[in-house]
Amino acid sequence: MKITDLQVIPFRVPRRPFHNGQCLPETSVLQTLTKVITDEGAEGYYFGGRGHGDQDGMAPDQIAAMTGHIKNLVVGHDPFDREKFWHWMWVANVDENLLSVLDMALWDLQGRVFGLPVHKLLGGCRARVKAYASTFPNMGTPEQYAEHAAACKAQGYRHYKIHPYYFWDPVKKAPDPGRPSHIEQDLEVCRAVRAAAGDDMVLSFDPWGTYRTYEEALRVGRELERLQFYWYEHPMPEYRVAAYEKLCNELSIPILSPEIAAGSLYTRADWIRRGASDMSRIDVLRGGITGVKKMVSVCEAFGVKCEIHMSGFANLQLLAATSEDTCEYYERGLLAPGLDYDAPPPYLQAIGDPMDSDGFVSVPQEPGLGYRIRWDYIEANRVGRP
Ligand SMILES: [Mg+2]
Repeated sequence: MKITDLQVIPFRVPRRPFHNGQCLPETSVLQTLTKVITDEGAEGYYFGGRGHGDQDGMAPDQIAAMTGHIKNLVVGHDPFDREKFWHWMWVANVDENLLSVLDMALWDLQGRVFGLPVHKLLGGCRARVKAYASTFPNMGTPEQYAEHAAACKAQGYRHYKIHPYYFWDPVKKAPDPGRPSHIEQDLEVCRAVRAAAGDDMVLSFDPWGTYRTYEEALRVGRELERLQFYWYEHPMPEYRVAAYEKLCNELSIPILSPEIAAGSLYTRADWIRRGASDMSRIDVLRGGITGVKKMVSVCEAFGVKCEIHMSGFANLQLLAATSEDTCEYYERGLLAPGLDYDAPPPYLQAIGDPMDSDGFVSVPQEPGLGYRIRWDYIEANRVGRP
């Protein structure tokens, strides 16, 4: 089998954004479908590729790169040679997101050809994965966070993760791009959530690198320890690896990082060696399924947790091929009151991560990544048809 074409199809989808404490009116955003086509008629697909999860379509320059020099690299080659492409892309310094998108579309293709979900190709380990509720940042007042945590617990979640206030002043209720951080208000949220959720709810905290001083990061960490939080994610900018080493030494709560640092497993292996994080963090847009599977092996060898970042079909397939001892949770979100997470986007017949009342998501068993695609929607909403 040979690859004959690599296409990116942009199309419009409605989205109801949640921003700074409120649901905004519905708007329309661009989604992309990357499609690998072969001479035997088999195809592989991946949705998204920019930003978070798999819901944000690629930007025009990414589409141009994918359908330009990346396509020229792979056309004529065997689509099952993912490992070869993966090494080529790193040597060629291809954008990490793009090599990831290609890798995942190729995994989807092989799953469809073999009639197996991707996790069975990787080596299946589990059909259900523990989930946690992951909030939007700036989700509301401490009381609103507390009510939401209690509602999530009632729905079945056993773990709740707070994204607190950032790029937003919770006192003035106005945008705030920089210093100082709002650590007093952040901690108010943590205390209110612990009180509402009870001691048996696992809680974690992610200020997304917005604590600009070591002292702030340390002070919040001490309070999280007192409140019995499980992990403290990405407290400071991830360029400051030495500051992370110091923080790990000082705190007993596990530091979960690097979250968004580039460099896939290469960066993360170095963080482990330096003792800059206690638990590692990666997602399928940082090296594809191939890169993340390698990172999971690195973590297993070091006896370090590898907590998978963000939601999405490919992250879930990967998780189903890992042990809970290393990759414990699936990040379900982002969530906020008034947003219906369980409604599928209009281009899919079903969401990929339905959750049961025990707080587990079940892994799609369809061939490939598990998409059930509504082709009629994509065709009707296609943008810029050549
Ligand atoms: Mg995070």
